[in-house]
Amino acid sequence: MATLAQSPNPDIALRIEGMNKYFGNFHALRNIDLTVTRGEKIVVCGPSGSGKSTMIRCINRLEEHNSGRIVVLGTELNDDVGNIDEIRREVGMVFQHFNLFPHMSVLENCVLAPMLVRKLPRQQAEEMALRFLEKVRIPEQASKYPGQLSGGQQQRVAIARALCMQPQIMLFDEPTSALDPEMISEVLDVMVTLAADGMTMICVTHEMGFARRVADRVIFMDRGEIIEEAPPETFFTASQNERTRQFLSQIL
Ligand code: ADP
Ligand code: MG
Repeated sequence: MATLAQSPNPDIALRIEGMNKYFGNFHALRNIDLTVTRGEKIVVCGPSGSGKSTMIRCINRLEEHNSGRIVVLGTELNDDVGNIDEIRREVGMVFQHFNLFPHMSVLENCVLAPMLVRKLPRQQAEEMALRFLEKVRIPEQASKYPGQLSGGQQQRVAIARALCMQPQIMLFDEPTSALDPEMISEVLDVMVTLAADGMTMICVTHEMGFARRVADRVIFMDRGEIIEEAPPETFFTASQNERTRQFLSQIL
């Protein structure tokens, strides 16, 4: 078998091949195959417990897969710690619960990793942070602490913070599901802008309006498997799969 690590295709951002993940005896991910090209936007949906977070977390090694291959930007995730560091620098992640550092200002949250990991001088890191805070439309909050912001604002800081590492891929794990309804669109709007800028994005979300607007492909997971993948227009109107249709009937 020709291996990607030996012949990286620069157009491919992510390739997962025959990947399995267990928690003890529990088979959480089953034979996952997924290829994402640069600039592609993938929406992942599926019932609670179907393995969406676990799959996303395997991509930047917050979870370790047990078999199969994960190749991110031409670098294979294996026991090589250098590879893991390299991939984490290039892959940004936004979580459901923001995960900002509560004792640091918005600006400090944004400059920390670029200064520590990318070794940017403070002034350059701050300039970049302000640029991204403008992009997520909250430059005026730079000196506040996360606890002083609304949920929607905190999540936009989390997005800005991730962007400050200038990642090539962004992973989102239900970024709006902890938000009050009136704040969901301010976060989705930022994600739409990011998509329009050409970012490679893998988004776990049940916001199907977002999927329709942005996704190149929608992936449906159930019980640890990818059951179906299709462009949004097909996925929403002409799914052939009974489990997909049942899921859609519950959320639409
Ligand atoms: P989803 O994000 O689709 O709701 P998850 O990926 O969080 O699903 O979980 C998939 C399955 O793996 C669930 O059954 C969950 O209970 C199990 N699981 C997730 N994380 C762990 C863990 N750290 N230890 C044991 N089981 C886990
Ligand atoms: Mg989850």
